[in-house]
Amino acid sequence: MKILLVEDDPTLGEAVMLATRQAGFAVDWSRDGVQAENALAGYAYDAILLDLGLPRREGLQVLRNLRKRGATLPVMILTARDTVEDRVRGLDAGADDYLLKPFALDELLARLRALLRRAHGVADTLIRIGRLSFDSVNRQACIGEAPLVLSAREVEVLEILLHHAGRVTAKEAIADRLTGWDDGVGENAVEVYIHRLRRKLEGSGVAIRTLRGLGYLLEAER
Ligand code: CA
Repeated sequence: MKILLVEDDPTLGEAVMLATRQAGFAVDWSRDGVQAENALAGYAYDAILLDLGLPRREGLQVLRNLRKRGATLPVMILTARDTVEDRVRGLDAGADDYLLKPFALDELLARLRALLRRAHGVADTLIRIGRLSFDSVNRQACIGEAPLVLSAREVEVLEILLHHAGRVTAKEAIADRLTGWDDGVGENAVEVYIHRLRRKLEGSGVAIRTLRGLGYLLEAER
C-alpha cells in the first residue's frame, strides 16, 4: 500500500513517515499543498494523510481539487483545528476521517488500516482464499495454521495481489506501489518477488498467474 503524507511540520512529518514505513507502507512525503498536488497528478496512492495548514496551498483546497477531479481514494485529515465547524468543513470537502493533533501514532495506523479496508470493500481484517489467509492488522500470512515467512516486500506484493484478487494487476502498478521517492523498485524486482511468493504459496490452493503484457492475477486454484 502506498500513501501520500502531506505535512509541513518536519518533526511530525518525520515521525509519521517512520511509523507508517515500519508498519509496512510505502510513503511519499510532500511538504506543501502544491507539491502534494504534483505528487497526486504523477503517482497512484491508496490513501492520503493530509494536514490542513500548509504553505502554498491549503489542505482543504488540495482536497477539494482532488475530489473535483473525481478521485475517490481515502483521505484522513491530520490537524490541530478542533472546532465542530472545522471538522464539518473537512468532512464536507470530501475527507473520510479526521484525526486531531496531537495524536498517538498507533491510533493513526489503526485508522489508516480501517480506511483502507473500507476503501477496498473488505470489512474483515482477515482475507481468505483457498487455504491462504492474510491478517491485514499484523500483516501475517498463513497456509492453514502455518505462518508463512515472508520479507517485508513480499508481504507488500502479496497484499496488493490479495486486494485485487480475481482481477489483473499490472507489474508496473505493483512497482509503483512499492516505491517511495527515494528507494527505487524496478519491474525486474517485482518479478523476483512474484517468483519467491509462488514458491512459498505452493500447497496453499492459491496461484499467481502471469498474463503476458497485462500483469498478474491471484486466484484460487481450480
Ligand atoms: Ca501545518
